[in-house]
Amino acid sequence: MDLRDHIRDIPDYPKEGIVFFDITPMLSDPDAFRHTIDCLAEKFKDSGATKVVAAEARGFIFGAPLAYKLGIGFVPVRKPGKLPYRTNCVTYDLEYGTDTLCMHEDAVEQGEKVLVIDDLLATGGTAEGMLKLVKQSGGDIVGIGFVVQLGFLNGSEKIKDHEHCFLVEL
Ligand code: 5GP
Repeated sequence: MDLRDHIRDIPDYPKEGIVFFDITPMLSDPDAFRHTIDCLAEKFKDSGATKVVAAEARGFIFGAPLAYKLGIGFVPVRKPGKLPYRTNCVTYDLEYGTDTLCMHEDAVEQGEKVLVIDDLLATGGTAEGMLKLVKQSGGDIVGIGFVVQLGFLNGSEKIKDHEHCFLVEL
């Protein structure tokens, strides 16, 4: 199955001049969605990870079923003010400006092996933010996985010190 057939380009979204790669067709097709999760699970089945860390909102869509399939825990990373318990937060660079992500301070244990998952790698800012959060908690990042990598944005530079992979490159 070619997962590219289940991603559509939306020109001028969210702003004029930007092409957004919409993964919702991949979700609404049961075979494509199952295949996506199975491929991610295959890549990480021997990672030794005990937690998947993923950021809202689209990271949850892939991270949670991957954790289920691997039989490991899931940790949500969210925007400030959304998590109910005590959090650690990091601010990271976007193409224009900055953003902040938070994680419960007890979600990842010292030395725990962690997978970081997101739907798409663009500039790498979001992934870098998640890596910082996991490191702050003392977690050991054993893999980073994306469904889609936008190769032309060189986001992988920001995560090059860690094992990372993707299913589709656009
Ligand atoms: P980055 O931080 O690498 O520049 O952007 C990646 C983050 O923004 C991911 O969390 C992803 O959900 C979102 N994102 C940015 N551009 C796109 C896009 O074209 N399609 C999708 N599905 N997500 C995007």
